[in-house]
Amino acid sequence: MRQLRGFVLTVLVSIGLILGPDLRDAEAWCWWNCNYAKTKYPIVLAHGAAGFDELFGVYEYFYGIPDYLEDKGATVFTTEVSQLNSTEVRGEQLIDQIEVITAITGKPKVNLIGHSHGGLDVRYVAAVRPDLVASVTSVGSPHKGADLADYLDENFEDGSFTQGVIAFFAESLATVIGLVSGTTNPQDGLEALASLTTAGTAAFNATYPAGVPASSCGEGASVVNGIRYYSWSGTGVLTNALDVSDVAMGLTSLFYGEANDGLVGRCSSHLGDVLRDNYFHNHLDEVNQVFGLVSIFDSNPKSVFRSHANRLKNKGL
Ligand code: CA
Repeated sequence: MRQLRGFVLTVLVSIGLILGPDLRDAEAWCWWNCNYAKTKYPIVLAHGAAGFDELFGVYEYFYGIPDYLEDKGATVFTTEVSQLNSTEVRGEQLIDQIEVITAITGKPKVNLIGHSHGGLDVRYVAAVRPDLVASVTSVGSPHKGADLADYLDENFEDGSFTQGVIAFFAESLATVIGLVSGTTNPQDGLEALASLTTAGTAAFNATYPAGVPASSCGEGASVVNGIRYYSWSGTGVLTNALDVSDVAMGLTSLFYGEANDGLVGRCSSHLGDVLRDNYFHNHLDEVNQVFGLVSIFDSNPKSVFRSHANRLKNKGL
């Protein structure tokens, strides 16, 4: 009897994990030949600092999200830029990859979705190559800086031994991530940090203002230069007791004076139309990490991406 109960429970949990992202949204119920997320232009996912497209060719940064969107009808590409470098360097690398994607698909534009630092990279692409971009969406991106970056920047003086050591370890880690994900893009930890401070983002926003809210916590313009701008983010920190990365998010969140996702403050994440800024997601949950361990008490990150693909499709993008 106990074995039977265990079996039934396992089956129910498995069904929950497979169908979970769809359960709250009957419109998205479709498991073959779907068009719910079938956008006109391909969706291009851009990773954050220390990110990657796939590790060892299998482990995805946007965990399970590309396949899920494709199951719902979307065409999805993941990109890979330097794990640690300035927004401009990363943005230029992204442009090269988008040119390849437009050549492969025959579609002239893409829908860009960037997580964390990736949200700034995609803004750079939209500013420099608007001809390639249908929409820009950021997820948990520090458009007005990250308090943790400010703390690190302020507490390690230029050229100090400590700054050198931190940069060395960060770049070594980034190089290893690059190698196991199959790339050798140049790394620069101090440039990455400088891009994510309040001062760094303010300078970036002055040059590339599209979609950035004028007020400290408002929304930005919905459309600039024919390109639509959106954002969403979370304010969860400890969201799943099984996910050990929650501990790190809990520690980093202590650097923040406002609601945050462990690394990015709620207001700093605003860009264009703010779809929602308080999902019960931490910074890693936003891309369904680690291994899909997220809160079961709010929308599944995969459903959030899927709903957004449907939104883009309905806008004719
Ligand atoms: Ca998590």
